[in-house]
Amino acid sequence: MSTSTASHESADGVTIPGGRVAAGAGARRPFDVAAIRRDFPILRRQVEGKPLVYLDSAATSQRPVQVLAELTRFYRDHNANVHRGVHTLSVEATELYEGVREKVRALIGGASAREVIFTRGTTESINLVAHGWARARLAPGDEVVISEIEHHSNIVPWQMLRDERGIALRVIPMRSDGTLDLDVARELIGPRTRLLAITHVSNALGTVVPVRELADLAHEAGALVLVDGAQSVPHMPVDVTELGADFLAFSAHKMLGPTGVGVLWGRMEVLESMQPFMGGGDMILTVSLERSTWNEIPHRFEAGTPNFADVVAFGTAIDYLRALGLDAVRRHELDLVDHGLAVLGDVPGVTVHGPREAERRGGVFSFSLEGVHPHDVGQTLSSEGVAVRAGHHCAQPVMQSLGVAATTRASVYLYSTRPELDALAAGLRMTARFFGDAGP
Ligand code: PLP
Repeated sequence: MSTSTASHESADGVTIPGGRVAAGAGARRPFDVAAIRRDFPILRRQVEGKPLVYLDSAATSQRPVQVLAELTRFYRDHNANVHRGVHTLSVEATELYEGVREKVRALIGGASAREVIFTRGTTESINLVAHGWARARLAPGDEVVISEIEHHSNIVPWQMLRDERGIALRVIPMRSDGTLDLDVARELIGPRTRLLAITHVSNALGTVVPVRELADLAHEAGALVLVDGAQSVPHMPVDVTELGADFLAFSAHKMLGPTGVGVLWGRMEVLESMQPFMGGGDMILTVSLERSTWNEIPHRFEAGTPNFADVVAFGTAIDYLRALGLDAVRRHELDLVDHGLAVLGDVPGVTVHGPREAERRGGVFSFSLEGVHPHDVGQTLSSEGVAVRAGHHCAQPVMQSLGVAATTRASVYLYSTRPELDALAAGLRMTARFFGDAGP
């Protein structure tokens, strides 16, 4: 690698506007939220003449200047297509791109960087398992087990496969507090189960699912386990071995990285046994007009030009998270969950859905305000500068189970603060007064 690239990826970090991100695994920055917020220029924006209060990180996170700078620097200094080139830029770009596999491996405790496949996001990662693993193996009589609190991206691919292959889909039900009914799970997971596809943290309720317990049941039954880590990997330490996962899917855009990048991690021997999902350049070893042979993993699953620039910037997002420490991120968010439950609980007419105990929740508050439609809540809060989401959150079965059409959802991340949750509560009191006065 050229000198410029070597300094670009120096072992002790990179100096860029907004500070130094230590690249080493053991490095820790103190968890200073005020300092962290300075890395996120968008958080200094005004909305409707008020300071932005961004409480929509479960949909997508904001990005620190370090990630923005890395993206620009890649295009400015190293841009070339990866893998095929012998010229210097292509070699540099390939090394930067491939280096991020190792960062992902270290983040989630995988055995090898070759187990890391880059996709467009969690959705594509789950579809890759459905097409590359399940489709070739599952037949009538086989069962896939999911839960009632899944995101649509972990429901629809399995319904499509069910309809194509004649398999059965079994659903672990949700209890009224947003947790899963593990007694029913024990009955559902059995000899016919081939795959348990389960979320780690619900995006619609914040519920943290006891994945390990369920994974043990699945493995005892001889099934594999796919974990949707879209809402856990960005927010807490996740280790694929501790989790008992055979596959783990997540998205860069929810963890400080660019859009259009996701990860499917899979256990080596499972990936080795899988067929490609898409055909094209890079995923082959040989092509003749009669037949083709497949490349090694992970390239077998990355047909065509990958999203290399965004992957490189994703590497900086991982550095940023690891420099803070995911355990510290989780502690910070647990404090916010405690505070949020307390201040929202004090607002008359607000019902917060999901588990009561903070430690069983991620940083998501899904709530209803009596007598006011969630879209009206969201719009009124927006006029106060508070960004939340209103709708079904791509989890319509959760809404059906709660008996509502939609909820309002506020979600926090490492840059969120207690005063922001106070602003949310104040905005909700104002909303309740406004619609109360306007009512009949
Ligand atoms: N799974 C969960 C739990 C999610 O929260 C999301 C996104 O909101 C997804 C899957 C889908 O992620 P993406 O849209 O990045 O593919």
